[in-house]
Amino acid sequence: MLLFKHVTELQQHLKNLRAQGDSIGFVPTMGALHKGHLSLISASIAETDCTVCSIFVNPTQFNDAADLEKYPRTTAHDIELLAEANCDILFLPSVDEIYPDGAIPLELDFGYLDQPMEGANRPGHFAGMAQVVNRLLEIVAPNKLFMGQKDYQQAAIVRNMLGQLGSSIELVVCPIIREDDGLALSSRNLRLTAKQRALAPRIHQVLANAKKKIGSKQPNEIEKEAMAQLNIPGFEPEYFEVVDGITLRGIDNFEDTKLAVACTAVRVGKIRLIDNMIILNKQ
Ligand code: AMP
Repeated sequence: MLLFKHVTELQQHLKNLRAQGDSIGFVPTMGALHKGHLSLISASIAETDCTVCSIFVNPTQFNDAADLEKYPRTTAHDIELLAEANCDILFLPSVDEIYPDGAIPLELDFGYLDQPMEGANRPGHFAGMAQVVNRLLEIVAPNKLFMGQKDYQQAAIVRNMLGQLGSSIELVVCPIIREDDGLALSSRNLRLTAKQRALAPRIHQVLANAKKKIGSKQPNEIEKEAMAQLNIPGFEPEYFEVVDGITLRGIDNFEDTKLAVACTAVRVGKIRLIDNMIILNKQ
């Protein structure tokens, strides 16, 4: 695996690969890699000639300074995992390399997509995320971009961004990888205490229960029931919303909906976990 820390050197290398006809797959991450990230690397290896993974903890998408400071950083281990996974290139830039002229805001309007759920609970998060993904795409210029369904709203916003920019980059959204007990893999799981870790699979159970209720309950009843099931000692549920899988707007009934996704965020102590499940897909 090749490691690049500088934009110019990475770009020169990718230019040579493109000249020989290679397609490029890109997996942006913030490191503390786990099997969820590695599933994106595998998908990219399967679908493209050269896989680039980036590790960059983007300061502009953290609305909470303590969260940024405590974000797990395990670079040496990440490099081992990526090499074992046969990733071709790791891009490990500094903040100055990504924002040489300071972090210039990206002037895009995502309509309703960045308003609910994560948008409402993490002000500025999606503006920072879109800014860094846009900058990374400008640097790597991949044919395909691989992201996880784990961050459902993020993927919807990136899809919208690519459309607005008239980009030819194909977004591939990969399924959520879970632990055996259902907990969605996340870098933040590393910060859970043993007791919190034991409680955390409940989030997936509540999503799975919601899915089972389709046909017998309306979306708002499912949301209320789920919030009650998440309201246990040790948990502070922020939201549980059943939304249209394309517009992310709340839905009144399932009859008029083709794609419905249940999305939730729960604070477990100081750790904020998000998860989601597609509960209806008539497409
Ligand atoms: P992050 O490092 O948290 O920014 O995540 C980088 C990419 O990995 C994003 O596209 C995430 O959606 C994806 N990802 C994170 N966790 C998982 C998971 N459990 N399964 C699949 N993809 C994931």
